[in-house]
Amino acid sequence: MPRRCTVCDHSERHSIDETLLSGTPYRSVAKRFGLSESAVYRHKVEHLPAHLLKAREVEEAARADHLLDQVRNLQTHALDILERAQETGDLTTALAAISQTRGSLELLGNLAGELDERPIMNVLVSGEWVVIRTAMMDALSAYP
Ligand SMILES: [Zn+2]
Repeated sequence: MPRRCTVCDHSERHSIDETLLSGTPYRSVAKRFGLSESAVYRHKVEHLPAHLLKAREVEEAARADHLLDQVRNLQTHALDILERAQETGDLTTALAAISQTRGSLELLGNLAGELDERPIMNVLVSGEWVVIRTAMMDALSAYP
């Protein structure tokens, strides 16, 4: 069983990560938070990059959400204008509102597609394929 990381388990892990990121030597960080130097060093090398990646993903998701909200807002406004233009028989404005609505629908669709996009696996470079191909080549080598 892998040994638990005392830094990851620490209640002040976020402060520790931030202190490490600010360039404070791991020895000083260890002293400040009452941790062993080796634990802080190992955490810095092995765990900190993953934490950073995670934080960036969360940040990006939040940004995408914000963008979606803004487009939805625009959409609501455009529909509102369309309704009012129709009531007053202002066809030019109605047409402009329809065009605006279509634009934001397209944008929403693109955004949704991007958010749902699963990683595309390139079968030719995947490790499994290399293993399978090697096995096939081995098996076929008897029949040139
Ligand atoms: Zn750790």
